[in-house]
Amino acid sequence: MVDQRRRFFLRSTQSTQNQPLPWIKDSMAFTDQCTRCGECQRACEENIIVPGDGGYPSIDFNKGECTFCYACAQHCPESLFLPEIEQPWQQVIAIKESCLAKQNIECRSCNDACDTRAIRFQHQLGSVAQPQIQISDCNGCGACIAPCPVNAISMEQHP
Ligand code: SF4
Ligand code: SF4
Ligand code: SF4
Repeated sequence: MVDQRRRFFLRSTQSTQNQPLPWIKDSMAFTDQCTRCGECQRACEENIIVPGDGGYPSIDFNKGECTFCYACAQHCPESLFLPEIEQPWQQVIAIKESCLAKQNIECRSCNDACDTRAIRFQHQLGSVAQPQIQISDCNGCGACIAPCPVNAISMEQHP
């Protein structure tokens, strides 16, 4: 049987909802130390923090992107967050086979949303231009997720 803490961690690696907050020190200890006070949720200027599994705060990228403002960490009364100078997280996107371009239908919505140009489209003989992810340029902000018309983008934890 998977305990609640493990289940929270597993689910947080698999979708665009129930994603961990940025700058979390220790994701396995998070559910032990977070009091579910909601201060981070109220502080988020993008309203992307929502109650997730068990009422613990999590990010829903279907509601928008993280701007890395650090307000969630600043308002947390517990010692759960890393200093702002640290990397906020180790996560990058993946594009599923349901992507319209992969189905040979012209679409570049994710490209338009990405400020860091981590998604580039390359022309290929016999098909529409295909998305290529430059992993090193993806900061995991999630801005490309909501604009995708077929929910083909997921967030993956990057070791
Ligand atoms: S860093 Fe800012 S935008 Fe990102 S989740 Fe925290 S409060 Fe929201
Ligand atoms: S502010 Fe801190 S303790 Fe309160 S819900 Fe958010 S992460 Fe948990
Ligand atoms: S998560 Fe952000 S940086 Fe990464 S590809 Fe999407 S929009 Fe670009």
